[in-house]
Amino acid sequence: MKQYICDQCRCLIDGHRYSVRIELQSIPEPAPITEADLDQDSLDQIADEIAMMDSTADFHLPENRTKKMALDLCPACARKYEKDPLGRESRNRFPISPN
Ligand SMILES: [Zn+2]
Repeated sequence: MKQYICDQCRCLIDGHRYSVRIELQSIPEPAPITEADLDQDSLDQIADEIAMMDSTADFHLPENRTKKMALDLCPACARKYEKDPLGRESRNRFPISPN
């Protein structure tokens, strides 16, 4: 049987295990459309760009901007996570003193 370690407190999860799936997605701000964009014939522009390429191997997809994480939690940590997913409470309890 596979054993799981809690990703929060590092204890061996003995029994009920909780799984947290996080999807961190980068949403870039869309570039504003200018009048020059509207005037251009985009099909002609794409054809020109393809003609300039040596081969279709130059084509590449933009990098994947989504990061997916899966965490395993013990019941105690799952309860804390449910109440305070970003850990705000624990941060406020130990404020960093400005020196
Ligand atoms: Zn734990």
